[in-house]
Amino acid sequence: MRIAVFSEGEADERALFVLVEAILGRAIEPVHPAPRSRGWPSVRDQLPLVWRAIYYQSEVDALIVAADSNSTMTHDASHDQPGGQEDRCRLCQLQRVLTETVQRAAKRENRKMLRTAVGLAVPCIEAWYLCALGSNPRTTEALWANGLKTPPLPYSKDDLKHRVYDSAIPSRSLMQDVIQREAQRLAAGVEAVERWFPGGFGTFAAEIRSW
Ligand SMILES: [Zn+2]
Repeated sequence: MRIAVFSEGEADERALFVLVEAILGRAIEPVHPAPRSRGWPSVRDQLPLVWRAIYYQSEVDALIVAADSNSTMTHDASHDQPGGQEDRCRLCQLQRVLTETVQRAAKRENRKMLRTAVGLAVPCIEAWYLCALGSNPRTTEALWANGLKTPPLPYSKDDLKHRVYDSAIPSRSLMQDVIQREAQRLAAGVEAVERWFPGGFGTFAAEIRSW
């Protein structure tokens, strides 16, 4: 299965391939779409362009999209109910962009519709890594959501990066080295991430399994 990942940066994309392969339970062929996004709101704004390029100009089977929530609203099951979509939630925003893009697209003959899945890392992808790697103290979606509601926040993005990379401002190559080194443990930790990040990762994993 050929899968393209579109997210906030290259290091994230490598980790997402590892996670998606673990969710699917079989090998995938990673494809890197252009243009490469850098942060939010580029992911949201470039998504229609990326979707169209992949759908019309490639034979890729599925597109994975992911963003960091930072301090914005976390996604939960209530947003998946009819009429429950939440404009302040980045996962819901990305889902809406995808729905609108597909609705506007002219169907390509003999081309299967592109499968998609959207993830929202709360507050950033390093929280998923730490959860998957079984690190203490625990990082969870609920802890972060509670901190948003009733400050202070339980940790900062810099804290999480520091715990993963030993640096709050890791270079791209350091990030990629860590993901490379930890890929097996990351894959083995998928169930834990699904349990502790049910909104941003659980929804994403369920979408992938429904393909
Ligand atoms: Zn949502």
